[in-house]
This record gives sequence, structure tokens and C-alpha cells, in this order.
Amino acid sequence: MTLQTRRLQREFRTMQGMVGIYCRAHHAADDGAPCGECREFLGYAEQRLEKCPYGEAKPTCAKCPIHCYKRAQREQARVIMRYAGPRMTLRHPWLSLTHLFDKLRRVEHPMEARRRQRG
Ligand SMILES: [Zn+2]
Repeated sequence: MTLQTRRLQREFRTMQGMVGIYCRAHHAADDGAPCGECREFLGYAEQRLEKCPYGEAKPTCAKCPIHCYKRAQREQARVIMRYAGPRMTLRHPWLSLTHLFDKLRRVEHPMEARRRQRG
């Protein structure tokens, strides 16, 4: 794992938890590990997090003003989150709690920030 900040690592762990819940319910990987498709998705998610400019101040990906996912992966993420989101509270109570706080964070788009600095 090469993610820079604890915040990004936590976002990735949350993602892993959600993908795990979704995959077990829909793809039924036999050894409990995510299937190939879901592992690929997680790899993509990790890549995007590595490039995330917000670092420690990052909001949750759903709230992020930068839509850095490609269309197909964004759709995949939406389906996974919709199923696994409500189930996270039971399976990973601590991660869902911190996720809740991360959700409250507000950030501005990098373009806005640049515009503001120029005055
Ligand atoms: Zn799967």
C-alpha cells in the first residue's frame, strides 16, 4: 500500500470493506476473498486515491467535487455503495463512524481555490 496519508488509507479500507460485503453477496467468491472483477475495481480505486489532491482533508468520494472515476467505474462504485453502505454499520462500525465524519467535510474544487487566490 502506497497511500500517503492515514485519511486516504482509511478511505481505501472503507472501500475494501464495502466491496467485500458486496462481492460476498453477489459474486460468492469461495475463499472469502473478493473475485477478480472486484479486485480489479479495488486496484482502480487505490490508484485514484494515490492521485487524490486532497490528502488528509479529503471528503468521502461521493461528496468530492472532482469526479476522477471513469464512467464505468463510477457506475460500479455507485452500485456497490448502494448495497454495502447501509450494511457497513453492522460489519464495520468503527469505519462507518469515521466515514460519517469524513462525509461532513467540505472542500472546494482546485479550480475554485485557484480563482480565489488570484482574487
Ligand atoms: Zn466480486
